[in-house]
Amino acid sequence: MKKIIIAIDGFSSCGKSTMAKDLAKTIGYIYVDTGAMYRAVTLYALEHSMFSGESIKEEELKADIEAGKVTISFELSEDGTRPNTLLNGKNVEKEIRQMTVSTRVSPIAALPFVREFLTRQQQKMGEKKGIVMDGRDVGTAIFPDAELKVYVTASAEIRAQRRYDELIQKGEKDVSYDDILKNVRERDHIDTHRAVAPLVKADDAIELDNSHMTIAEQKEWLMARYKERC
Ligand code: C5P
Repeated sequence: MKKIIIAIDGFSSCGKSTMAKDLAKTIGYIYVDTGAMYRAVTLYALEHSMFSGESIKEEELKADIEAGKVTISFELSEDGTRPNTLLNGKNVEKEIRQMTVSTRVSPIAALPFVREFLTRQQQKMGEKKGIVMDGRDVGTAIFPDAELKVYVTASAEIRAQRRYDELIQKGEKDVSYDDILKNVRERDHIDTHRAVAPLVKADDAIELDNSHMTIAEQKEWLMARYKERC
């Protein structure tokens, strides 16, 4: 069976990664969460005090990236069920999901040198195809020729609720639905308005509004679209 590239783009917390990860596992493809890579760069900037108030010490971050001081990779979890994100060899999967990172990631992801750095790596990961990648610009900037492109949407309130439930389930105690909703809206705004590779539906992407779909229904829908392409 021919291998293809599957690009899943959309707003934050709309269930992209759940469906993308599940499809990849079922069909034996590699799964890449590009948002995790932007989150890891953000964590690096936080750990190296590169934020001062609202502004980012861009030159410092750029210099470190150019000097090869920021490496991001993935490894399968011990039980083999999910990929963990590594920053300079250290598993940071938990840290990158925290609100401190969520509130800083979109400005970092708007920096052209950060996008160039990560886009190059993402394109390399897909050279042999057989990949499911989720993010904001996969079908437009990373793989404009992807064979299957999906653009996922859901209301901001529903997405905030999903994020809230996910964090609670992971044992986070200090989470507020209102803070999450505010963050979801802010990230939507920055992600759709930035100058480089903004979140936008590719002309040839299929739109999926999953506001009122169960996870099982979304998985089934995605599998059907994949079968149409192969
Ligand atoms: O997917 P997730 O919500 O974890 O992504 C975190 C942030 O990373 C997004 O809000 C966006 O600012 C950025 N991002 C991006 N391009 C991608 C993936 C994520 O700009 N391909």
